[in-house]
Amino acid sequence: MGQWHHTGCVLCAQNCGLKVWVENGQMTKVLPDKENPRSQGYACRKGLSVLYHQYPKGRLTHPLKRVNTRFEPLSWDQALTEIAGKMKAVVGESGPRSLAYMGGSSQGGHMEAGFGLGLLRGMGSQYYYSSAGQEFSGHWWVTGRVFGKQYNIAIPDEHRSQMLVAWGWNGIESHQMPRAPKVLKDISKDPGRLLVVVDPRKSETAAIANIHLALRPGTDALLMKAMIAMILDKGWEATDYLKDRLKDWEAVRPWFREFDAEAALRVCGLTPDTVLHLCRLMTTQKWSVHPDLGIYMGRHSTLNSYFLHILGAVCGIFQTPGGNMIPPMVMPMGFHADERNPKTWKNRGHGHAPGGGRVLSPQP
Ligand code: SF4
Repeated sequence: MGQWHHTGCVLCAQNCGLKVWVENGQMTKVLPDKENPRSQGYACRKGLSVLYHQYPKGRLTHPLKRVNTRFEPLSWDQALTEIAGKMKAVVGESGPRSLAYMGGSSQGGHMEAGFGLGLLRGMGSQYYYSSAGQEFSGHWWVTGRVFGKQYNIAIPDEHRSQMLVAWGWNGIESHQMPRAPKVLKDISKDPGRLLVVVDPRKSETAAIANIHLALRPGTDALLMKAMIAMILDKGWEATDYLKDRLKDWEAVRPWFREFDAEAALRVCGLTPDTVLHLCRLMTTQKWSVHPDLGIYMGRHSTLNSYFLHILGAVCGIFQTPGGNMIPPMVMPMGFHADERNPKTWKNRGHGHAPGGGRVLSPQP
């Protein structure tokens, strides 16, 4: 006799609620879980195909060990004992730099990151490789400089935002927030709220946006600099916020004086009126921003992240309800790795510092 169970999808970091029918120890049916308070009945195609991912043909159900040219099964106890013995021997002989952990990203990989990092640090190593190191290293580095720790990522408090800005983010397709397609559609249809998309492409998210800034590809940093300069020129900045919450603002502010914003916008392929209108909205509305790979992996990726933080700060959105908030992490997927600290290990190949602990950082 089977039974429904409430569980969560592990195929991406949203962990949407799923209801699964389990019979004889096997899941046989999957539904979105309407009772899950975060996902509220939403699940995407991947989550609803979890049976395929859970029971693929050829899935290994026990460890295998290579013996000459063949693989032979062995028990979990035996496998773990042998691996632990070899790991300790390698680190004992060659030191902790001989050990690296690769994982903690991609499909469901975030679930193991806490344990993988615990093992890595327990063995004395800092070498952590992950596909996320390609995508986010510049952003994490900036986060460390702006908010003190590289894992202090400020995420949108979109439910309380009057305006959500999707910068290089096609949330309708890529998600990255609970029930992203529904949330985005709800915002764009609400007469009291706005969905703004900054993206050269008319993406699926741009197609439903209330405002779409289709800038020339690779000019995001220039647009951000122009927007900051325009806001300061008009005197629209959040003066009290900057005075109370920022350190060294006066050292940064001169970068935006006497900047030819109109010339910059010509390069971006945007009209000053459209951009000024968005600047006014940003300085009068509660807004949050959701950046993504469109700028993290685009031209000037680290500068994009830095200017976006300055733009947000000028408008006072960080740690402000309806703006971008820094949530606590139960299982950190990375760690603070400030390159100014002599104890931080650098990449042996290119010598760059890690970002968010990931050593693989081609664009720091
Ligand atoms: S968005 Fe899709 S893949 Fe991600 S947790 Fe939800 S159901 Fe799973």
